[in-house]
Amino acid sequence: MAGIDEGDSPSVRPQPGPDDDSQGYWQHLIDGDLALQRCSSCSRWQFPALERCRYCNGELRYEAVSGSGSIHTFIVQHHKVAPGFEQERPYVIALVTPDEAPEARIPARIIGCSPQDVTIGARVTAELVEHPGGSYRVAVFRLAG
Ligand SMILES: [Zn+2]
Repeated sequence: MAGIDEGDSPSVRPQPGPDDDSQGYWQHLIDGDLALQRCSSCSRWQFPALERCRYCNGELRYEAVSGSGSIHTFIVQHHKVAPGFEQERPYVIALVTPDEAPEARIPARIIGCSPQDVTIGARVTAELVEHPGGSYRVAVFRLAG
């Protein structure tokens, strides 16, 4: 439609592009679980997904985490870098360390608060939300308490 920037519609957000290693992560989100790869040999967790354990080359399986964690670091996104997030700006993108998986960092938006309220080390809880424009869900986090 003339005069409307369709790039600003939440219906056209970039979609995930799973590969063989990360397919399990995305499927678990669709099924309602936040799950990360965990090594069958050394029990360490890892994210992002790989074919084998980055520490011992062991076999990996997906295992659900509770969704509780803390903010390792974050940025406040003021500028448009991806379509579909116009209503959200400014918004926080953080690396979240799940409580069960101190080796892992999950990149995710922090929602439901002002960027000024976000601090390194803050406690967060995961929420799985629909991702407009496709059938995927994504993990976002809210400040806990
Ligand atoms: Zn391992």
